Amino acid sequence: MKIICVGRNYTEHIEELQNEKPTDPVLFLKPDTSILLKKQPFFIPDFSEEVHHEVEVLVKIKKIGKHIDRKFAHKYYDEIGLGIDFTARDLQSKLKEKGLPWEKAKAFDGAAVIGKFMPKSKFGDVDTLNFRLEKNGEIVQQASTDHMLWKIDELIEYISKYFTLKIGDVIFTGTPKGVAKVNPNDNLTGFLEDTQIFSIKVK
Ligand code: ZN
Repeated sequence: MKIICVGRNYTEHIEELQNEKPTDPVLFLKPDTSILLKKQPFFIPDFSEEVHHEVEVLVKIKKIGKHIDRKFAHKYYDEIGLGIDFTARDLQSKLKEKGLPWEKAKAFDGAAVIGKFMPKSKFGDVDTLNFRLEKNGEIVQQASTDHMLWKIDELIEYISKYFTLKIGDVIFTGTPKGVAKVNPNDNLTGFLEDTQIFSIKVK
């Protein structure tokens, strides 16, 4: 399986990092080795002094497809989840400055938290889903999928122009504002509406 991530999909997050607003979705991949194993803590890697949490809504692909029209995109997923795109921000900034690829900052071991998946039917409209991340019991990121620049079905259309989507692939749909550094002993808990989807410890 592969993980396809979308960058810069929420206006206020683009502003907080002072990035340019893209004319097309920004895409990057994470390898399967980046998935944080179930029930394991997240260890801050020694090559970064500033790892940020980015909470994101996830989509699990259930059918192979390429050049999927947005009208039919809803047929390619039944399950929605929530995860964290951990980002070594200090390293990413250096790489960005030099125009180099981001992988070392985003695709390292443990950098992809994939919480449990829920049937999308549980939530009604996937384009008005509320989600949040709590750090040590305090809300640090909170948004609705309604604020996405590109909605889930548009993302599937766009991504599948470049990458064939296969069963089990996971799309990270971008993070809203509120990204911040994690520290040892932080507890990060993610909620889709009022359902707790993951809870992890930082070490
Ligand atoms: Zn992200």
